[in-house]
Amino acid sequence: MIPYGKQQISQQDIDAVVSVLNSSHLTQGQQVPTFEEKVANYCQANFGIAVNSATSALHIACLALGLGKGDWLWTSPNSFVASANCGLYCGARIDFVDIDLKTGNISVDALAEQLVLAQKNNRLPKVLVVVHFAGQSCEMNVIKKLADQYDISIIEDASHAIGGRYQDNPIGNCQYSDITVFSFHPVKIVTTGEGGLALTNCPKLAEKMRLFRSHGVTADAALMTEASHGPWYYQQIELGLNYRMTELQAALGISQLDRLNEFTAKRNQIAAYYDECFKDTSITPLQIHSDCYSAYHLYVVLLPEASKSLHNKVITVLRGSGIFAHVHYIPIHTQPYYQKMGFNEGDFPVSESYYQRAVTLPLHPALTREQQDYIIDKLLSLL
Ligand SMILES: *Cc1c(COP(=O)(O)O)cnc(C)c1O
Repeated sequence: MIPYGKQQISQQDIDAVVSVLNSSHLTQGQQVPTFEEKVANYCQANFGIAVNSATSALHIACLALGLGKGDWLWTSPNSFVASANCGLYCGARIDFVDIDLKTGNISVDALAEQLVLAQKNNRLPKVLVVVHFAGQSCEMNVIKKLADQYDISIIEDASHAIGGRYQDNPIGNCQYSDITVFSFHPVKIVTTGEGGLALTNCPKLAEKMRLFRSHGVTADAALMTEASHGPWYYQQIELGLNYRMTELQAALGISQLDRLNEFTAKRNQIAAYYDECFKDTSITPLQIHSDCYSAYHLYVVLLPEASKSLHNKVITVLRGSGIFAHVHYIPIHTQPYYQKMGFNEGDFPVSESYYQRAVTLPLHPALTREQQDYIIDKLLSLL
């Protein structure tokens, strides 16, 4: 089976992890801070906070931004459920903004319209989670202007997008957001097994996220309510969690980062070949905005029509032919858990129509030209 995504593990990666196993610190040593610094430097952000998953990073990002009961969090329905669940963890209410069919990203027109309505109804969101779908940045300049106008905090869910660029700057520099979050799950661009990381330029947000990552406990005298009792002393000043990344994971991440540019270059090369082969066919690849260099976590095409039966046939036959085609994503608001909260089919029609046309084809750095030709021929033969 040709997988839709696959991690690349080198001997250098293995050696890095083994050397941590032979060291004195399996957690809370120097690997995690080094990894945080390396990601922050790469992305030109001031602070990095590594955690055990992007889901955890989204949660502590929301907590640090003060999201709570009575607040609203908005996100894209075309994402993994974690982009919305992070708001529910904080007791906030969720709403979605429909997408742009051409990119799969949040529609800035729909966002602008929905904000006008929300202001009238006194339901403006406190936090907007934008998702850089498939590795391509959302239109952050427009989104930032709207967020400033309505006083909304922005989290970039860049789980797909480390190594991508927007207006020639690295995604993650937080120029247009409060916090950016990455995932290091093995299907993503670089991996730590499981893992995530939050970037910010704001020292206060960084400090809060560090607290929430580790029990809300601090050994920093400047944060304590009274003088330290001595060198063993710590205080709990927030209700935090244990979302720490291990040293093993961070060592793997440090080693993987060395090949990030290589990975994204290869992914772009593979995507360009798909694009070329689908030219003048009834298959429509997602479009890349001229402001963007995609990290190409996913290669998604749209079938010629929104048809449940065609969609099902294409994915089923491809899988039967050894090609692990996938679908990203089932619109979050159509999930039973969200339907129970009052969302209905038809609420975000573009994302629903997109869902019935979207096919994710295999894309990872080790995919060969022969495999690609096989995938392209198979897909085109089904239309
Ligand atoms: C993978 C993913 C997540 C969750 O990442 P984990 O590291 O598995 O928690 C969140 N958002 C998006 C868009 C993702 O693709």
